[in-house]
Amino acid sequence: MIKKAEGILSKIFGYHSFRPLQKEVIENIISKNDTLVIMPTGGGKSLTYQIPALIFDGITVVVSPLISLMKDQVEQLSELGVNALFLNSSLSQLDYQFNVEQVRSGNVKLLYVAPETLMLERTLELLEKLDVDCITIDEAHCISEWGHDFRPVYREIATLKPRFPNAVFMALTATATPQVQNDIIENLKFKKSNRFVASFNRDNLFLQVVEKTFPVKQTLNFLEKHKNQSGIIYCFSRKQVDDLTAELDEHGYSVKPYHAGLSDKERMQNQEKFIKDDISIIVATVAFGMGINKPNVRFVIHYDLPKNIESYYQEIGRAGRDGLRADCLLLFGYGDISKINYFIDQKEGREKLVAKQHLDKLIRYAETYACRRIPLLTYFGEDYYQENCGICDNCNKGVQTLDNISVEAQKFMSCVKRTGEIFGANHIVDVLLGSKNQKVIEKKHDEISTYGIGKEHSREVWLSISRQLIVKGLLTKDFEFGSLKITDRGYEVLKGGVDVKGKIDTETKFESKSITTLNYDKKLFGVLQQARKNIADNSGLPPYAIFPDKTLIEMAAYYPTTDKEMINIHGVGDAKLQKYGAKFILFISNYCNKFNIPVSSKNILSNRNRNGSPTKKLKYEIIGKEYNSGKSVDSILSEYNLKLDTLIAHLSKYGNLVSPINPKGLLNRLECDEKTQKQVYKSFQKLGAELMRPVYDDLKETVSYIDLRILRLNYLFQNKN
Ligand code: ADP
Ligand code: ZN
Repeated sequence: MIKKAEGILSKIFGYHSFRPLQKEVIENIISKNDTLVIMPTGGGKSLTYQIPALIFDGITVVVSPLISLMKDQVEQLSELGVNALFLNSSLSQLDYQFNVEQVRSGNVKLLYVAPETLMLERTLELLEKLDVDCITIDEAHCISEWGHDFRPVYREIATLKPRFPNAVFMALTATATPQVQNDIIENLKFKKSNRFVASFNRDNLFLQVVEKTFPVKQTLNFLEKHKNQSGIIYCFSRKQVDDLTAELDEHGYSVKPYHAGLSDKERMQNQEKFIKDDISIIVATVAFGMGINKPNVRFVIHYDLPKNIESYYQEIGRAGRDGLRADCLLLFGYGDISKINYFIDQKEGREKLVAKQHLDKLIRYAETYACRRIPLLTYFGEDYYQENCGICDNCNKGVQTLDNISVEAQKFMSCVKRTGEIFGANHIVDVLLGSKNQKVIEKKHDEISTYGIGKEHSREVWLSISRQLIVKGLLTKDFEFGSLKITDRGYEVLKGGVDVKGKIDTETKFESKSITTLNYDKKLFGVLQQARKNIADNSGLPPYAIFPDKTLIEMAAYYPTTDKEMINIHGVGDAKLQKYGAKFILFISNYCNKFNIPVSSKNILSNRNRNGSPTKKLKYEIIGKEYNSGKSVDSILSEYNLKLDTLIAHLSKYGNLVSPINPKGLLNRLECDEKTQKQVYKSFQKLGAELMRPVYDDLKETVSYIDLRILRLNYLFQNKN
């Protein structure tokens, strides 16, 4: 049976391998076991019922609350040559009747229905006359009162089980909390063993948090590196949405706003333009995103703080559904926190407490020095442990080194004190820089001892330092007036003897990374994108319903010019080959002729058989294998042009995921003495060996991270044996 599923995956969908858990879920459904599937957005839930639907003889009914999604799914399935239809209140009476007749004829494989439509007696009577093999409940968290989107009609679906004894029931959701999961299982009377929970790690999302200093400039810098890419920018307020839209528009970006203040029509138009790639950027409040299925959203920027980790996760989850790299940038403003705190303080009791906890977790996520995936996935109860995820800002920074900013802290705080603790950061910085502005002169602050003692740094650096002092609790800022005051801890620093660590540079760099490791012809990609857009517009479909980006990328890398080569491309199944193959082959051949691209560049393609992906070894696997085969550390370092800490990171990962590493060959690299090493092991025992930072702090920052990592490898190795 699973062979059949694999065949459909490649023949109909044009994909070469299953995503995690897809296969298991499909097997379970085909065996007619009621199943609950928890997968993050973009995890590939749809295939888990679509493939069984194509294997079953009868019909699969999919209950979905989102009308726009139903339409989207049906369009995409029709493009794949699958007979799918929907029934909901958006259809005209004529179309509705037409669809009902189609269903009655027994030729429809997948029927999408709104829950209200399903529960109508006439719908049920219609379905009872057919052979219903599967009833899929999408967005199943709507069943639960604990969910964020409870719908009473969803609870009635369970009552249908006796009426459709031959149907397997399936519930799908991206909401992870155990409470909601249990609620669904109890309501639908599923067996606990038939629950499949996928990892919530979306390993194609690059997570980045940057201190919000000059947000417009920061956004423009980021966009500069993501030219012509599709993305969402979330803002807190409607006004902010409008202002930023205007700003970006002025800078030549194709952008539209989306918020509750716009008319329904305008909102729909802007959303449609975004989906159809007529514009690349949508600036929106959190009202935007439900029911958006666009797979090639390449970035999500949070211009303001999200409400909590859960909303943040949901919002960034809209990026990169196609599995290609996407970038998530959070502009983290301490000013935003005071604002939120101000609102929280208006609340009372439990509500206030919960809001505070949510905010706290968000701050912890933003301020972590370790991998961002740790606080994020821990939040969802997942036990995430990996040395280096390779796809968040912290893991890409390597070891964070902090500057000693004690002198700066003292200068700043004594200036706060000398001016009477009644001024805001800007005025303090004016004094430190020796400004001659009116306020400084008027207050006679050019006569105090801290006047002009901070000329070694720019205004931006000083403002950043002032924010860091607030975060560290050395200064407090009056929310209403913005004036700075020194805390008790601040006074201790001012007296001397306590070191302050922080960052002196304020530069934030936004690297532009390729969205895939595949080396492809960017120019050809552009040509194919345009071709896709023309076809899409002519048929009134979104471009991704013709082909996903990944398909065009593979075409632009392998230059397929025959049907046989084309069918090997990701996302090209039989139906798509027939419909669009010739058109795209023509574009590619013309392009190859024009630029004299030799046939030999296609070679790689013939290596891929239809059911398997090309074998790609990951770096850590290669390095780990080399090391374990006895190659010396020096020769690996020079052969692969690695730094020692990168080598160690690879080895740790290999040790965790593949097979144990004997760190003997590394021990001679240690710089600390034996006594210190013993202390480090003690510290591991006390604090655990998962995170380096606590151990680093525990040893008063005297042992380097490289040493700590080597010692940890040894510690884990010894413990294992
Ligand atoms: P979800 O409903 O879980 O948010 P979807 O079912 O919409 O996710 O899948 C997200 C995207 O990933 C879709 O574009 C889908 O076609 C694609 N996809 C799903 N499974 C696979 C697979 N095995 N290989 C390649 N792409 C896949
Ligand atoms: Zn990371």
